[in-house]
Amino acid sequence: MQVPAQVEYEKATSVGQALSLLARYAPAGRILAGGHSLIPMMKLRLAQPEVLIDINGIAGLRYISRSGHELRIGALARHADLLSSELAGQHFTILHDAERVIADPVVRQWGTIGGSLCQADPSEDLSAAFAALKGSMIIHGPGGSREVPARAFHTGPYETVVGPAEMLTEIRLPVRRDTGSAYLKVCRRAGDWPIGAAGAAIWLADGRIADVGIGLTAVGAAHFVAAEAEEFLRGQPAGEEAFARAGEIAAAHCNPVADQRGPVEYKRHLVGELTVRVLRLAVRRALGLGSMEPAS
Ligand SMILES: Cc1cc2nc3c(=O)[nH]c(=O)nc-3n(C[C@H](O)[C@H](O)[C@H](O)COP(=O)(O)OP(=O)(O)OC[C@H]3O[C@@H](n4cnc5c(N)ncnc54)[C@H](O)[C@@H]3O)c2cc1C
Repeated sequence: MQVPAQVEYEKATSVGQALSLLARYAPAGRILAGGHSLIPMMKLRLAQPEVLIDINGIAGLRYISRSGHELRIGALARHADLLSSELAGQHFTILHDAERVIADPVVRQWGTIGGSLCQADPSEDLSAAFAALKGSMIIHGPGGSREVPARAFHTGPYETVVGPAEMLTEIRLPVRRDTGSAYLKVCRRAGDWPIGAAGAAIWLADGRIADVGIGLTAVGAAHFVAAEAEEFLRGQPAGEEAFARAGEIAAAHCNPVADQRGPVEYKRHLVGELTVRVLRLAVRRALGLGSMEPAS
C-alpha cells in the first residue's frame, strides 16, 4: 500500500491565516483543499510537502454568486456545487455540460474548483471551459490581490502563476447578452479523463459571430485555447461553413501526443469534430433554439 511521507498539518479558518501559514512555511507548505489530486500525488511521492495547510475551514470561500455583470465562484466551491447551481446553469450552460462529465459523484462532492485549476492537469476540463468563457482568476498573496485572465493562469503542465506564498480565491466570469455555450467530451468510460474535449462560448450580433471563445483540453492546446480558430470566426456568419473551417483550424493547431488514450491523428479528428459540434450547440442555445442536451 502506498502511503505519503510524514507531513505536518495546519488548519486555516481565514484567507489571511492561510496566507500567513503559506508565508511561514513557503516553499515547503502546500494548500490542501479536497485532496483528490494532492493526496494521490503524495502517495506516489510526486508531491512531498512538509506542511499541509487545510483551507476547508474557510467558510467564506465556498460560494457561487452574481455580482454586477460577473458570476463569481469561490475557490472552495465543490464540483457538485457548480453542477447544482441554477445561477451558473442559467448563464453558462457549458459549466453544467462540463461538470456532468467530470469524474464521479464522490470526487465531485469533495473536489474543489480551485483545486482543479491549481492542479493544472493538462487534461482538466474546467480550465478549457473557463478559457472559453474568458474568465479571470483572483489570486491573494502577501502583497494583496491580483486578477489574472484564465488564459494566462497556466504556465505549463501542472504549473500556474500562483506563487508558493499565494492562493487562488475566486474565479470570475463575465455575464454578457446574446451568449450561448456548450461543452462536449469524449472519454473511454463514464467518469474518466478526456481523450479530448472542447468547449465554446459564442456572442452573436445580427447573425454574425461578434466574439467567440473555444477551449480545448487533453490535446496540447496552448493555454487550453484554440486561438487561431477563434480569430477566423470573429465577424463570420454563424453557420455550418464557418464552423467546419474552424474545426479544421483547431485540429491543425493543437498539439496532442499519442498515449494509451489514442494516437495523434485520432485526437486531431476529435478536436475538429468536437469544435464543430460545440459551436453548433452554442449558437442554438444563443438563439434559444433548444438546448439539445449533449449525451454524457
Ligand atoms: C478518480 C478521479 C477522476 C477524475 N476525473 C476528472 C475528470 O474527468 N476531469 C477533470 O477535470 N478532473 C478530474 N479529476 C480531478 C478532480 O477534479 C480533482 O482531483 C479535484 O477537483 C481537485 O480538487 P481538490 O480540491 O481535491 O484539490 P487538492 O487535491 O486539494 O489540491 C490540488 C492542488 O491544488 C492546490 N490548491 C488547491 N486549492 C488551492 C487554492 N485555493 N489556491 C492555491 N492552490 C490550491 C493544492 O496545493 C494542490 O497542489 C479526477 C480526480 C479523480 C480522483
